[in-house]
Parts: sequence; structure tokens; C-alpha cells
Amino acid sequence: MVFARAKLAVEGTTKAMPETPPNRIPLAQIVNPRSIAVIGASDDAGKFGGRVIHYLIRHGFPGMLLPINPVRATIRGLPAWPSVAAAPGPIDVAVLAVPAAALLREVEACAAAGVGACVVITGKLADAGEAGAALESEVTAVARAAGMRLVGPNCLGLFNVTDAAMLSSSLALEVERVKPGGIGMVSQSGALMGALVSLGHRHGAGFSRCVSVGNQADLELCDFLEFLIEDPATRVITLYVEGLKEPARFAPLLRRARTAGKPVLCVKAGRSEAGAQAARSHTASLAGSHAAFAALCRDAGAVLLDDPAVMVLAADVLDRLGGLPRAGMGVAVVASSGGSTVTTTDMLAGFGLRTATMSDATRAEMARWMPPSHVHLPLDTGSFHDNTSEEALRGCLRAFMADPDIGAVLVPMTTQPAMAKRAAMLPPLAREGDRPLLYVMMAGEVGDAARDAMRAADFPWFDHVAQALAVLRALEAEAAGRDRATLAPPARPAGLALAEGLPSGALTEAEAKRLAAGYGIPVTRESFAATEAEAAAAAEAIGFPVVLKGVSRAVVHKSDLGLVKLGLGDTGAVRAAHAALRAAPLPLDGVLVQEMACGEAELILGARHEPGLGAFVLVGTGGVLVEVLRDVQLAPAPLRPADARAMLRRLALWPVLEGVRGRPALDVEAVIDALVRLSWLATDLGERLVEMDLNPILLRAAGEGCIAVDARATLR
Ligand code: ADP
Ligand code: MG
Repeated sequence: MVFARAKLAVEGTTKAMPETPPNRIPLAQIVNPRSIAVIGASDDAGKFGGRVIHYLIRHGFPGMLLPINPVRATIRGLPAWPSVAAAPGPIDVAVLAVPAAALLREVEACAAAGVGACVVITGKLADAGEAGAALESEVTAVARAAGMRLVGPNCLGLFNVTDAAMLSSSLALEVERVKPGGIGMVSQSGALMGALVSLGHRHGAGFSRCVSVGNQADLELCDFLEFLIEDPATRVITLYVEGLKEPARFAPLLRRARTAGKPVLCVKAGRSEAGAQAARSHTASLAGSHAAFAALCRDAGAVLLDDPAVMVLAADVLDRLGGLPRAGMGVAVVASSGGSTVTTTDMLAGFGLRTATMSDATRAEMARWMPPSHVHLPLDTGSFHDNTSEEALRGCLRAFMADPDIGAVLVPMTTQPAMAKRAAMLPPLAREGDRPLLYVMMAGEVGDAARDAMRAADFPWFDHVAQALAVLRALEAEAAGRDRATLAPPARPAGLALAEGLPSGALTEAEAKRLAAGYGIPVTRESFAATEAEAAAAAEAIGFPVVLKGVSRAVVHKSDLGLVKLGLGDTGAVRAAHAALRAAPLPLDGVLVQEMACGEAELILGARHEPGLGAFVLVGTGGVLVEVLRDVQLAPAPLRPADARAMLRRLALWPVLEGVRGRPALDVEAVIDALVRLSWLATDLGERLVEMDLNPILLRAAGEGCIAVDARATLR
């Protein structure tokens, strides 16, 4: 018994709680059950239980179907059973769409009858107040004690399209057939999942398994994510996340998916909540939990999106056409009118994409079909020489599909003669190459014949240029994330020393700088002075000019209160500044005398610990206006130097760091080094770190380094 428990714990199928019995069936069998009992089954498809059995039959469930109904002998022509106990076993899965008041009794009956897992559609539990939450815990405890798993409650069930086990009451199943394909989905909203599967259906997308996890009382999003990673039918994974039950599992699973060659696309609810909380530091207000989640996804090579529709359409392109050959390639727009050519190209830049540069070979091919003035991208097919347009289109597209800088072809089609015929030419041409072609039918109903042609060819299509561009941007992110899983782990720099004896709570500037200096981050030379005489002596020792700052643990932004006196050139100025600080209307512990540093740019470096997600670092345009400019980038710690460089390159400030308008290139290497060191400090402090800011760090010209002139930290 001891051995069996230890084995279970190793396999991760259960937490090593002594009383937990082994699971009755593995997760794969819940998704693909041999037998399903529908509790509350009815002939009335207007009722939840009626709809579930209706859909199971309509979509051709091949296993044993057991309608449970205390008063009916048959339901939909199948023998019905008065209870799960009376039905022939073994029952892999029971679907429960009963009222909340009956739920506990039914779950107990399932547990007693040896049911493997319950899919609980019943809502109004933890999602509806304290009494519901108590009932949910009770139901969960009954299931756990029996080794019976739960999906939900408050979910819409699951679609196993691959095996025709459509175990759901979702109206997305009001179609003849859901097309099998490679898109897997886990969603915390059943209704959104239904809408997305239905949207995908309209566009010809194919699905493998879609699971609505509801309140995640037992099985949760990460369990099904893990399942989809291992699932041979799933090629692309889509996730709708509201909150993670065990956040620490998430990033490692994203990495595993990438290692398995499966792109993960994700929409996370709650972006707007970020930064809402009152914050003690800049880092806290700029790096809320949504920003941390986004950074985690990027780091693990997953694609985070805002728009669930774009998630499904992008997943479909990845599934049916494949991704971009690599990140950073350009786009070839092929349009049939001047208007669509120009507007599509204008929109391209707004999505962070660029028009491709053609190779000489591609140019030569284009020159065969059009006047020299038109041999460029975007291609306007209206400029082809007369009567050669089909051949010309073929020639150009084949050349594009082979061009080393063209990552994707975008074809926005406006109204024109023979739209459907033109559209039908595209799929076979696109399939000759190894890069996606995105077809947009910009017209309304008159474009339906062209859409049908695409459907018939099993080829994706879009209704709006903006949607196709959003998908291209997602594909770019996917390509950029593809090789993240293969990178070597970050290496720890030598000589890092954690400052000792620091208090918990808010640190003073001097204490926070001691912490930074221990990790090799350059900080100002400075000393604390309790009196005017001490301040004058400290200034002499440091060398003029100096800076004086009032020191108080209670103050967050010193300059707001006039507590920063810059550029003091002599002892007289120091004494005057000291007097002015002492006149401030709040008690000071003393003053800090520090060297006056100079630099060409002010950056902020920050770190924080996000409960459940770990340590993060931030870099951005610094100084007193950080919250106004919000030009920051976040990444999970620790960092590789290449990660730090990539963060800097994403800043709006980046061109300034490279040197613009005759200004010198700045010491980017020094910031990278400081950021990497800060990321190790954050990693080593772990949960002890609440947050830390180095703002600003003054950055000098290349080779001259950087220096933190202010620091702030809060420790637990
Ligand atoms: P606050 O608490 O208001 O952030 P800081 O110590 O950051 O106070 O000082 C405000 C500004 O003064 C900084 O953004 C920086 O521009 C400038 N500053 C502060 N200390 C120094 C210094 N030692 N050398 C040069 N400039 C400094
Ligand atoms: Mg500051």
C-alpha cells in the first residue's frame, strides 16, 4: 500500500494525501469514455439532460449510452434505467445536469455505483455565493473519497470530436457534424467555447477535444492542458483562462507543449484589472498580474491574445496551413484593386508587421507579368498585362512562396468578376509552398460563392483584413516562441552576495542600494548624515557636485515633497540644502549625501514577486514620468543576457539607446548586465521580495557604464 501511494505521487495523478484512493479511470478515458450515463435524461431537447443525450446520439457516440430516468422505460429509443445503481456497469462517465438541490444525492449515487467520473453541468455553486461554495466542497469531497473525478461544476461538458463523444449541452452542437481536426481547447467559459467552436465551424476549422472546465472543483485547466500535450489528435492548443488553480504548473506545461511541437494560443481575462491596486512602487503599478502572466507566456513560447476569435482563427491556420517558416519575415500583399492594396498595406504597420523585401529571382519573375513600374510589393493584380492574369498570378505566387523574406502571403479580395474561380486557384498554389496564404473575402453576401470555394478546398478564409492581420501577428509571435523551449537555462553570474541584516517592510534608499550593490549593480557613492556638519564633511569626502536627499521610511516619492536637492557645488550649497530639507514639514531620519551622477538617458529597472507565478523583472523608460510613459517590458526571472537585450529592443526608447540624431550609442551592455543581476537578486529573494525599483538608472555612452541613483524596495 505504501508503495502504491508513493508510485501515484510520482506519477502526479494525485497529491500524496494518505486517504486519497487511486483514481478510478485515467483522464484520457474521461475524454473518451466507453460508456456514458446521462442523469436526468429526457426526450425533451429543450431540457439540459434531454439536449445532452440528443447531441450524443446525433453526433454518433459509438459507446454504450445509458439514459437515467426514474419514470421512463425508454428515452430516444434507448432503454432507460431508474438509477445509476440499476444501470449495467462499468460506467466511465456520468453527465449531471440536475438542479443544485439534487446534486449531492446524485453524486453520492454515482460514487456508490463505481462511476469513473462525473461531468457536472449544474451551475449556481461556488460561482453563486457561500452556500453554493459549501455544496461544491461537499460534492468534491464525496468524489475524492471515492477516487471518482469531476469535471465542472458549472461547465458545459466536453466535445471529443475525434471520437464522436460529444458530451455537452452546448448549442454549438446544433450542427450536423463538427469537423474533426487538430485544434484542442480548454476553456473556463463553456459559452465562449461554444461560440468559438461554432465560429471555427463556419470557417471550416477542425477540432480534436474541447473541454469546458467550469469551476474546476477537481480537474482543472492544467490537467486538460497536460492531456492535450500528450494527445496525438491535437496539433494546436487553445486556452481561455480566467484564473489558474495551481499557477506554478502553467509555465512548465507551456514549455512542454513547445517541446512537443504544439503551439499554445491563449486568451486571459482581466487585462484591465492590471495596475488598479494602489502601489508603493513604480514596478507594482506597471507590472500587475496580467502583465506578469503575459510575460510568462512569452517566455514559455506561448502566444497571448486579446481576442478569442483571433485565437481560434490563428489556431486553424496553424493546424491546416502551418506557421511562418521563422520569425521576423515580411508579408506579401496580393490585392486585386488599388484601394485594397493601399489600405491593407497601411494597416500592416499598425499590426507591427512589414512588407517583405523581394529577392532578385522574385523580381525577375514579377517582371515577366507586369510593367517595370509595378514590380514591387504590394502586388496589385490589376496591373497585369492583358489576358495573362491567371498565369501571371500563378507565376507570382509561386515566386513568393519561394522567396526567403516572404513569410506569408495575404490576399484581400474585393468584388471583381469570377471571384469564386480566382479564389479556387489559391489553395493548390498555397499548398505547393511551406508558408501560409491568408485569404480575405472583403465583400458581403456576393462573396459567398468564393467562401464556398474555400470551404470546398478545405482552406481557411477571413471576412476582415484586420482579423487576418491579427492572425498574422499571432503567427509571428508563434514563430518567435517556437525555439524558446530549446534554449539553455540562464546562467548565474559570479560574485553575487545577498546583503544581510535588512529589515522587513519598506527599505530606505541606502538599504535598497546595499541590496543592489551586493549583486554587482553599480550605485552612487553616498553616506548618511545626521547633522549639517556631517553632511558637509560627507560632501567633501565624496567630491562636488553632490546631491542631498531627505531620508524617511514613510516617503515613497521624495521629489514630490521637495526632498531631492541636486547639483550642490560647494559646502555652502550643501549647508543651505540641508537647512531647507530640515525645514520640510515631516520628520526626517537624516539626509543622504551622494555623488551627482550624469547620464544620457534615465531607465527604470524593477523586480517583483507575483504570488504563484514567481519573480519578474522590468525595464523601461525611467525617471519621474514612468507611470505616464508606461514604456516598460516585463519578463520572468532569472534572465539570459539575450532575454534582457530582447526586452530593451521592444522599448519605445530603443532607438535612443542605439543613438539617434547625432547622439551617442549608449551602454546597452551595462544595462543588460544590471538587469540580469537584478533578475538573480529577485530569484534569490523569492517570496521575501515584494517589489524593488531602481529608478532611475542613468545610462552613459557605450563603454562608460550605468549607475543607479535611486532605489526602493519592500521585503516580506
Ligand atoms: P524620487 O524618490 O522622487 O524618485 P530620486 O532619488 O529618484 O527621487 O530623485 C529624483 C530625480 O533626481 C531622479 O529621477 C534623477 O533625475 C535625479 N537624481 C536623483 N539622484 C541623483 C544623483 N545622485 N545624480 C544625478 N541625478 C539624480
Ligand atoms: Mg526615483
